[in-house]
Amino acid sequence: MPKILLASNNLGKLREARAILAVSGLEVVSPDSLGIDMDVPETGQTYLENATLKAKAFYEATHMPCLADDSGLEVDALGGAPGIFSHRFAGLQNNTDAERCRFLLEKLQPYPKPWKAAFHCFAVFYDGAVLESSHGICKGEISDVPKGDQGFGYDPIFKLETYPLTMAEAGEDLKNSISHRADALKKLIPFLKNYFNI
Ligand code: IMP
Repeated sequence: MPKILLASNNLGKLREARAILAVSGLEVVSPDSLGIDMDVPETGQTYLENATLKAKAFYEATHMPCLADDSGLEVDALGGAPGIFSHRFAGLQNNTDAERCRFLLEKLQPYPKPWKAAFHCFAVFYDGAVLESSHGICKGEISDVPKGDQGFGYDPIFKLETYPLTMAEAGEDLKNSISHRADALKKLIPFLKNYFNI
């Protein structure tokens, strides 16, 4: 089975990418499994730039075909924030997911509901020469009552547009069929199958 390295230390992203790409015939490997411990500074101005920085950095470290994901939550009432700053929104790189959710809910208190929002994901493939990217989106709204214990990040406060559930209540199978990550990665599958000849 051909291997592709997921250029991320986020276990939630890894689990989801593996499930979404299961149909592709690719083995998605983690940096951890190769003994690589690398944190790439996200200095880009866009998701695409940040995903490209991650894919290139992990490629340089391993010379393996790499797949990076840069994603974030955009809330209309906050003018699209936290967006590319979703991970660092509550101030620290190592804030907990619960702290990030609480911080976002505090910021939203002055604004009237519904708090419309969307998750975005840019996926980037890089092998030292070929660069291919895709974009995925999942629409919903922010709920002031966190619900559910699955997924990661802002999932407990993200109410899906198409189901009466938060992303954290949806469970893996449903999330992986409708999420921004699923949308982006599924769009890359035809390219990946062609590239790896599978
Ligand atoms: P980055 O792509 O490593 O910059 O991190 C994006 C941040 O956005 C994550 O740390 C999460 O807080 C949030 N995020 C991205 N994707 C998801 C998701 O599928 N569910 C919940 N939060 C997410």
